[in-house]
Amino acid sequence: MKKLLTLCLIAMSLAAAAQSQHRILCGNEYLPDMTEQRHPGYKAAVQQAFDRAKNHSASRATNAVTYTIPIIFHVVYGAAAENLDDSVLQSEIAVLNADYSRTNADAVNTISYFDSVGADTHIQFTLHSTLRVQTSNQFTLDLFTGLPDSLIKFSAAGGDDAIDPDHYLNIWIVNLQPSLFGQLLGYSYPPDGLPNWPTGQSSAAPQQGYDGVVLDYRTVGANNPNPINFSGMNLVIRGRTGTHEIGHYLGLRHIWGDGATFGTNDCQQSDGIDDTPFANTQSNFDCDTTRNTCTQAEAYYGADAPDMVQNYMDYSSEECMNLFTKGQAALMQNTLEVNRPNLATKSYPLGVSQAAASTVAIYPNPTTGIVYIRYAENSDAATIATIYNMLGETMAVNQSTTAGAIKLDMSALPGGVYTIDLLKDSVHTTKKVVLNK
Ligand SMILES: [Zn+2]
Repeated sequence: MKKLLTLCLIAMSLAAAAQSQHRILCGNEYLPDMTEQRHPGYKAAVQQAFDRAKNHSASRATNAVTYTIPIIFHVVYGAAAENLDDSVLQSEIAVLNADYSRTNADAVNTISYFDSVGADTHIQFTLHSTLRVQTSNQFTLDLFTGLPDSLIKFSAAGGDDAIDPDHYLNIWIVNLQPSLFGQLLGYSYPPDGLPNWPTGQSSAAPQQGYDGVVLDYRTVGANNPNPINFSGMNLVIRGRTGTHEIGHYLGLRHIWGDGATFGTNDCQQSDGIDDTPFANTQSNFDCDTTRNTCTQAEAYYGADAPDMVQNYMDYSSEECMNLFTKGQAALMQNTLEVNRPNLATKSYPLGVSQAAASTVAIYPNPTTGIVYIRYAENSDAATIATIYNMLGETMAVNQSTTAGAIKLDMSALPGGVYTIDLLKDSVHTTKKVVLNK
């Protein structure tokens, strides 16, 4: 009875919301509630995963580590226009990499109040592969049976199966049909902890085959040939629905805390991030940087701060969005450390050693030509050693698949100081070596 009442309330509120303000929305406004109906305990599991990331004290020695996430696109199309060209998919990857590293050209537009909290997240993306499946399915949101997920994400249902969600970010690109509740631009599943991604359907969360991001095909890329728009609105598509949805996938919430999702204003709901100010509702696809819907003092700023409408996790125009904050960056990095530990490849820039670097011995150093490298743990995993000179130029690459010490012959190189980058089990370690001649 309570469940039915909740569903009715959600339905009525969503219908009211659809008629009044945001006809266009991100599915994550109500995905947690909908999923909770089918999988009791789901919201608590998501909260636990968030808290785990929030409370994780970073083990990395510096913020210099970069996380690289491989993406698999599933283009599940009906009409030919939905079968996006590779150039659009490549544009989406470029948008993600610029936005997540704060190298986006419009980062300069961040208002001065928030300039100091704008962050390079040190998260990057590579295109692993693109899979294309033609279907006759229609993808329309149905509140009572859930999102059109199974039709999108399972080959047997006319969609396309996820590939190894532990190691790849699966992104399905489809034509999301408008419904009573509005037009979805996309949605994604936040981390809810590995124990909650069972293979069966009986426990708290949907099965792992659902994990990933869904984007409407008209939101992808900065060069989309059919960008989504509605009369009376000035939607500008720059590929940032992907930026936003991957933010959810990495644990971020909307910056207004979703307290006002069903039409009630709420300045008490926080997104759990210290440097994103309270806001009582979403920004409704405009770009009013003076808006200030909550007037309480913010602990982080020591004052009342304006709404951060330029944040990727608001509902601003895509030409308005330009930042993630330091708090959001830390949360996403920690999500990759503790909730999605197998997803990203970690790399360290030259000259920056990770904490575990002491477990690698390199000798003799200085050397006159031959050096040996030995890992403390006796693993025979493949190791790639790349030797760089002081200009960062690659001088030699050596791949070893044998157990025990790795022998490097540097005798053909001129004397000087070199950096050796070691890659093993997706982890980079760098060491300096002096070559005397
Ligand atoms: Zn969202």
